[in-house]
Parts: sequence; C-alpha cells; structure tokens
Amino acid sequence: MKMNRLFILLFLFLPLFLTSQNDYQGAREKMLINDIKSRGVKDKLTLQAISTVPRHLFVPQELRSQAYRDGPLPIGYGQTISQPYIVAFMTEAIQPKPEFKVLEIGTGSGYQAAILGQIVDSVYTIEIIDELHQRSKKQLQDLAYHNVITKSADGYFGWEAKGPFDAIIVTAAAEFVPPPLIAQLKDGGRMIIPVGTPFSTQQLLLVTKSKGKTKTKNLMFVRFVPFTRTTD
Ligand code: SAH
Repeated sequence: MKMNRLFILLFLFLPLFLTSQNDYQGAREKMLINDIKSRGVKDKLTLQAISTVPRHLFVPQELRSQAYRDGPLPIGYGQTISQPYIVAFMTEAIQPKPEFKVLEIGTGSGYQAAILGQIVDSVYTIEIIDELHQRSKKQLQDLAYHNVITKSADGYFGWEAKGPFDAIIVTAAAEFVPPPLIAQLKDGGRMIIPVGTPFSTQQLLLVTKSKGKTKTKNLMFVRFVPFTRTTD
C-alpha cells in the first residue's frame, strides 16, 4: 500500500519536476541568444559554459524564476550576482583556454567561478564575506565543480601560493588595481577589473602584462558593488 502511494506521488510530481528543468534550459537558451550573442559575445567556450551552468541554482530560491533575466540579482549581504551578459563579456575578455589557471576576486554566488570552472583547468576564487564563501563553496561542491577552489579572505592580496595566474577576474569595483594582483599575473596574462568610485559608474579595465610591463585599456562603463577591505 505504502509503495503504491509512493509510485502515485512519483508519477504525479516527476513530470512537474522535469518540465521545470526544461523550462530553465529554455530560458537559458533564450538568454544566450537575446542578451549575450546579440551583444557580440562570440567565444565558443564562453557560450558553451553559459548554456551549461544552471544559473538558477546560484540565486536565492525565491528569485529562481528571475535567474535568466537580463540583469543582476541580489544574493544577500548587500551583494549581487552580475548580469549574465557582463559575466559572459568578462569571461570572453580573458580569452580563456582549457589549460588556464584563473584567479577570481569576489566569489559572491559562485556563478562566475562555475562558468570559468566549466572552461579552464583550475579556478581559485576568494570571497571576503564568510557567509557567502560558505554558501558558494557548498553550491560548487554539490554541482561537482571540483576544479574550483574557494577561500574566505581579502582578495586584495591575491593568492600568492597558487600564482602566477594566466588570467585574473575581479568582480567588485576597486579604486585602483591592487599591486599584488598585478604581481600574480603571468607574463602575457590578462586581468579584467572594474575600477572607479564606489556606487557610481566604473570603467571595466583590461590589464595586460607583457615583458614585465602592464598596459590598461577601458572596455566599457559598468556598475559593480564595492571592493571592500578587512579593517583588522
Ligand atoms: N562573481 C560574483 C559576483 C559577486 S559581487 C558572482 O558571480 O556572483 C562581488 C563580490 O565581491 C561580493 O560577494 C563581495 O563580498 C566580494 N568582495 C568585495 N570586496 C572583496 C575583497 N576585497 N576580497 C574578496 N571579495 C570581495
């Protein structure tokens, strides 16, 4: 009798579950075409990663239905998961390759780290808010992103023991490019970082390093949450 009930429940709810999964896949494909490809993102590995990573699992449960809309969303603690297009743009801008070791500052939800984890060999990601670090670490583990290594710390100092890195992505707006991050970028490497005054528009800078010399180029104007510092 109990078994029968279980089967009935399963038959009732399985289609519902499967439909919702398909809905998300559909929403993801629409987002890819309308908000990302249409704005010029072409890199195959980046597009493939965006179409694979379940963004809805990186936003708070009550916002899942909005996970694939064309904008940032709150993730708690005054922080946000970036707009999908910005994630795609920044990923493409580092010209990611499968053999890359990448450093990310500002793990937040873990979504950008998962996108990178889908493409490159290893991702080291640092988050300053411990609760967000714990949450994203669990989510990344649950989704089996074993090549994404997380740490709770002030990302200003980078992760010297694991460097130098082929590329660095900073997802919080700094007032200047932290010198330790430049030091941990490989020769020939690319860093992408929003720089400017907190709570206003910032410039998304591409910092390249060649023969020990760094060059910066403004790619676009953006608005990110501030890069904060631990005060102890
Ligand atoms: N990449 C994230 C975006 C998160 S928003 C995502 O895909 O969801 C930026 C994050 O940077 C916030 O979680 C914020 O707490 C974090 N942050 C700000 N200053 C930092 C610092 N000095 N070191 C590490 N993380 C920092």
